[in-house]
Amino acid sequence: MKKINIAIDGPSGAGKSTLAKRMASEFGYIYVDTGGMYRAIGLYVLRQGISIGENQRVKDCLKDINIDIKYISGSQHIFLNGEDVSDLIRTEEISKYASFVSAIPTVRQFLLDLQRALACENNVIMDGRDIGTVILPEASVKIFLTASAEKRAGRRYEELREKGQNVTFESVLENIRQRDKNDSERAIAPLKPADDAITVDTSDINLEESAALLKKVILEKMSNV
Ligand code: C5P
Repeated sequence: MKKINIAIDGPSGAGKSTLAKRMASEFGYIYVDTGGMYRAIGLYVLRQGISIGENQRVKDCLKDINIDIKYISGSQHIFLNGEDVSDLIRTEEISKYASFVSAIPTVRQFLLDLQRALACENNVIMDGRDIGTVILPEASVKIFLTASAEKRAGRRYEELREKGQNVTFESVLENIRQRDKNDSERAIAPLKPADDAITVDTSDINLEESAALLKKVILEKMSNV
């Protein structure tokens, strides 16, 4: 039977992962965090001592990378060559490396098969940058989740501080702006809404309101397919 796929794209810090996770548990679907896959590759590359800009070295090491997704007590864990790196990849440094490796076409191709296979075998809510445009162009529902850069940076800043990371609001905002630029200006699979995506802006609504709005939009769209 054909699986139901819901694509949620949007810039960093728009609340995609939190909201996608919630929707996945409400609908009983599997949540797939594609950003985590780019982050795991970024971590591998950083550990190899590869600098940002050394594209050829990244391509050369892809053959040594195995990314796996496992669901433990309902939550997604990302494994890099057998090691659970789910927590290690949530740093600002890895964000920069993920953004760097994600602009390399061979890296995107490498992850495309894994992402499509998950969507083919399961009902999924998949979040990323190019899910509605490239990975799952036939998805039943496509959402483009966004918010102003300042609001997104504010939320990311709170989240990182709660985890005990020593960051300033300015550095988080700068990181968000840089990633927005990299993600939307890159030649391959740039961040943009699919033609048939529904845009949901969460700048002026809180998490609960965003979740309620998103659920409504998804249900409305599904009742029309
Ligand atoms: O979503 P998250 O912030 O974890 O993603 C990390 C980085 O991975 C993004 O800044 C983006 O450069 C890249 N990415 C991507 N395509 C995706 C998901 C993430 O290019 N589908």
